[in-house]
Amino acid sequence: MTIDPETATFLIAGPVRIHPRVLRAMSTSSLNHRGDYFHDVVGEIQELLPVLFGTKTGRNAILTGSGTAGLEAMYSQLVPPNARTLVLKNGNFGDRADQIVRRSTKNLTVLEAPWGRHIPVDAAKAELEKGDVGAVCVVHNETSVGLANRLDQLAPAVRKSGALFLVDGISAVAGIPCPIEAWGIDGLVAGSQKGLAAPAGLSIVHLSDRAVGALHDGTFYLDLKKHLESHEKNDTPWTPAVPVFLALLEALRLLKEEGLESRLHRTATLAKATRAAVAAVGLELFPDAEYASDTVTAIKNPPGLGDNELRKALQETYHVLVQGGQGSAKGKIFRIGHMGIADWPDLLVTVAALERILGKAGRLPHPGAGLRAIVDAMP
Ligand code: PLP
Repeated sequence: MTIDPETATFLIAGPVRIHPRVLRAMSTSSLNHRGDYFHDVVGEIQELLPVLFGTKTGRNAILTGSGTAGLEAMYSQLVPPNARTLVLKNGNFGDRADQIVRRSTKNLTVLEAPWGRHIPVDAAKAELEKGDVGAVCVVHNETSVGLANRLDQLAPAVRKSGALFLVDGISAVAGIPCPIEAWGIDGLVAGSQKGLAAPAGLSIVHLSDRAVGALHDGTFYLDLKKHLESHEKNDTPWTPAVPVFLALLEALRLLKEEGLESRLHRTATLAKATRAAVAAVGLELFPDAEYASDTVTAIKNPPGLGDNELRKALQETYHVLVQGGQGSAKGKIFRIGHMGIADWPDLLVTVAALERILGKAGRLPHPGAGLRAIVDAMP
């Protein structure tokens, strides 16, 4: 049977399931993006973005393009031309930051940890003490390995050094706490399709006041200054992805109704339950458990059960979609996303299906224990 996307259990690491209100918001006929109605949409989005970021200061640019567009905009216009840039990486998206930054500067130092291990904070601090670092680039939540980097451990040293703090927050925003102002983050990129639970296609770049002043020329289409100037008139510089803007607005309204704190709390509770279920069915997390992400749980494939036996069966027999590994983790792990509007029924179905597959393969030490772990975590 082919999967019905409207009823399947959809827990990939983003895009995430979309609320019907958000879906309805974008099913309209074409709108004049230079007309009053759309100006009001852009205006209300701007009013609501501080709810998403938990900020009182700074500016936000809304770009048509997926998260990578936001990253390219941020790095190409903020990586300093005359100072060293530090890139910290421990996964696929850290590699991507490295690749993007390299297009803007040759003066960079990359500090790397093995996939699934925390970024090397002490080594970063030692580099910062040398006094010549102009920007630090890091992924907050490394989606590829299900690991949340502890930026609170890094932030004071970055602030003290005076370097710009540039963060990929794509799978962190509205999923794990990210106090932008307290940590002194200067540039942070969010994607529409993760914790915010809107469709894919927009990225939002938050800039501190200091970062706005530091913007230099980069790519034309993603020119952040042009976007900020245009947003002052509730406008966009070029034709925006109108339906996704409409969806973004509705997703932001939903987030405001729920409250950022409640969404973070719900996401953390679902993550804790997922980790408990993973242990209860005899599986192992891929990242260091201490740093396991609350938006994405990455799990090692059990010996003898590859993607074909596990993810394919989840999808084809039980209509549960989870995600595989990327890059060097391909075929070795699977990932369950539990951000955005994911909820208990999603986890119950997923863990039930997982138990069935493991049970049939003779790899379920304590039948029912995974489901029990979820039920026990439910409010
Ligand atoms: N950075 C992180 C941490 C991500 O999770 C993703 C996507 O999953 C990206 C960057 C790339 O975003 P996009 O695929 O929207 O361009």
